[in-house]
Amino acid sequence: MIQIAIEGPGGAGKSTVAKALAKSLGIVYVDTGALYRTVGVAALSRGLDTKDAAALESLLPEIEIDVRFENGVQSVYLNGENLGDRIRTPEASMAASNVSAIPAVRAFLLDTQRRIAQKNHVVMDGRDIGTVILPDAPVKIFMTASPEARARRRTLELREKGMEVRYEDVLREMNERDAQDSGRAIAPAIPAADAVMLDNSDLDIDGTVDAVIAVMKEKLGEDVIDEMKGLSKL
Ligand code: C5P
Repeated sequence: MIQIAIEGPGGAGKSTVAKALAKSLGIVYVDTGALYRTVGVAALSRGLDTKDAAALESLLPEIEIDVRFENGVQSVYLNGENLGDRIRTPEASMAASNVSAIPAVRAFLLDTQRRIAQKNHVVMDGRDIGTVILPDAPVKIFMTASPEARARRRTLELREKGMEVRYEDVLREMNERDAQDSGRAIAPAIPAADAVMLDNSDLDIDGTVDAVIAVMKEKLGEDVIDEMKGLSKL
């Protein structure tokens, strides 16, 4: 199976680009952040401190996370319930970042992610795909953009979902979350040694997708890309 890892900080456009890429190749887009967000929301809804490792460890046996693909679109179910946009709020973002620094939570979600990538060609978006989950992935892209460009994009994205957010708050929370994600002891959100860095501050979505495809052609060859098209099972 072909594995493409798209990583980088919040608002770098990972999910938009990974989704567009997966669609054009006819393969599966896997949003691994949604898994951490779901665990974060599960903890919040029980009133737990999302930084409390012991509390999270005792929560894990009580939750079942199921990833389903319907028409190629991923949905994450928590004990049978699809949480929808409840995992997209700024509180859920911070909760996800907090729980993701807890080793037991990462171990809990590891198999789920690897299993999907073993059965399908995937474009996987996350923070530790190239370093931990799929270290042998042949294509690893680390996408970045300036903090201001990322915060602007994230503000628009949240407003489009109907959330009232201020750019200044989004920028501050994003910087806080990025610092926490890249500075954590376990699986820090840093580029793999063999990742290709892609700064898309001045690129639009199509331009970024084209840049990723250019890297894929170089790493995989054009034939492999043609063969991938339409082979996904999900
Ligand atoms: O990508 P997204 O913003 O949805 O991720 C939410 C949070 O989940 C990140 O800030 C990060 O702390 C965590 N995460 C992670 N490893 C991944 C994906 C997300 O630690 N593979």
